[in-house]
Amino acid sequence: MSMFGPITTVSSLSMAHKKVHLPSKICPICLRPFSWRKKWQKQWLQIKYCSQRCRKDKAAKQLFSDD
Ligand SMILES: [Zn+2]
Repeated sequence: MSMFGPITTVSSLSMAHKKVHLPSKICPICLRPFSWRKKWQKQWLQIKYCSQRCRKDKAAKQLFSDD
């Protein structure tokens, strides 16, 4: 059991060292953070949702709230 202590410490340290500098946003629909993707490189500023599915979810919610 005590073996897990040092292993966890080492892996969290190496993760911090490896930190990737990608911008990220939080999706207002699912409230999950999502990171920059290469396919979004020209439209990142306009990207609001993590996925097409959340985009559609947003549209559906607006339709319902207009009712
Ligand atoms: Zn989402």
